[in-house]
Amino acid sequence: MTKIAPQPGIMDIALYQGGASHLEGVSEVVKLSSNENPFGPSEAAIDAYRREALNLHRYPSTDHAELRAAIAEVHKLDADRIICGVGSDEVIHFLCQAYVGQGDEVIHTEHGFAMYRISTLAAGGIPVEAGETNRRVDVDKILASVTDRTKLVFIANPNNPTGTMLPAKKVKRLAEALPEGALLVLDGAYADYVDGFDGGAKLVDARDNVVMTRTFSKLYGLGGLRVGWGYAPRDVIDVLNRIRGPFNLSNVALAVAEAAVRDQAYADKCRAENTRLRAWLIDALAAHGVPCDKSEANFVLARFDSPEEAKACDAFLRQHGLIVRLVAGYKLPECLRITIGDEPACRRVAHTIGLFKGRA
Ligand SMILES: *Cc1c(COP(=O)(O)O)cnc(C)c1O
Repeated sequence: MTKIAPQPGIMDIALYQGGASHLEGVSEVVKLSSNENPFGPSEAAIDAYRREALNLHRYPSTDHAELRAAIAEVHKLDADRIICGVGSDEVIHFLCQAYVGQGDEVIHTEHGFAMYRISTLAAGGIPVEAGETNRRVDVDKILASVTDRTKLVFIANPNNPTGTMLPAKKVKRLAEALPEGALLVLDGAYADYVDGFDGGAKLVDARDNVVMTRTFSKLYGLGGLRVGWGYAPRDVIDVLNRIRGPFNLSNVALAVAEAAVRDQAYADKCRAENTRLRAWLIDALAAHGVPCDKSEANFVLARFDSPEEAKACDAFLRQHGLIVRLVAGYKLPECLRITIGDEPACRRVAHTIGLFKGRA
């Protein structure tokens, strides 16, 4: 054992649990546990990846100007107020490193994303959980959790793993009611799945206390590449850039993400297919006596009669080569989160849950 102790809070971090990807002794496994795009990245993104092979001896851009310009053009934003990170996870990490110190508080919601806690603890801060109401973010419960030590409030909109969404009016009310000295972070990892939704960008433009994070990991099918971005007031971007490593994104990451965001025809196709199959899956599960909330994301949260039944169904699905996500760690022990796969995968998971329900 080394004699040197880590900073307070570090040993309270529980390691992030990713979705499983293989099953011992089962072939033709379908992975529906990590909210990945079943159709993969666009052809344009794959071409960019191949082209960058010839540039691997070069250091990448430090200011990400071309990727930021592409994002700004597509989303109609100010490129100077965009920061790119190694996944949106890194942007979340920058926010905590920059604004949270020993004893400072960071609010996340009851069924909120695990990284908010992890990055808060890594910065020496105290994660504070605000309750939700029927698996929905509750503005009043968040406001009741605010103290004079609150530095950041994280909400994912749509949320993971619930798939529910807070309407723009309520998000605005939350931003307006936060005290000076607290930032509202809108995690838009799934915003791309909601037709016409800006992820909160207009609220960022209108206020000085709102930050939005986005990712290439979900709709753009690039979870393995690790690219995300943030949109924030100019002074916040300036702060975050000071702690960002100058070469945090590789040539490959920058070029592939740029090609992906410029291929909106492919993004539209993936969004439409997700919307269609999500509606189909929710109906099919309901017909088997398994209700889901209306989801705005690329997954559904299937509710079973008890935690035991959810666990038994998870095991049954695994025996049949289907990997979904148990979300007991998100305080939803009676639920399974199921990513919207391609049509055969959706049919297979619905059919197998039907078999389970008939058998149970
Ligand atoms: C998947 C996900 C992210 C994205 O993480 P990346 O680091 O960009 O891959 C962020 N927030 C939530 C809530 C997510 O589910």
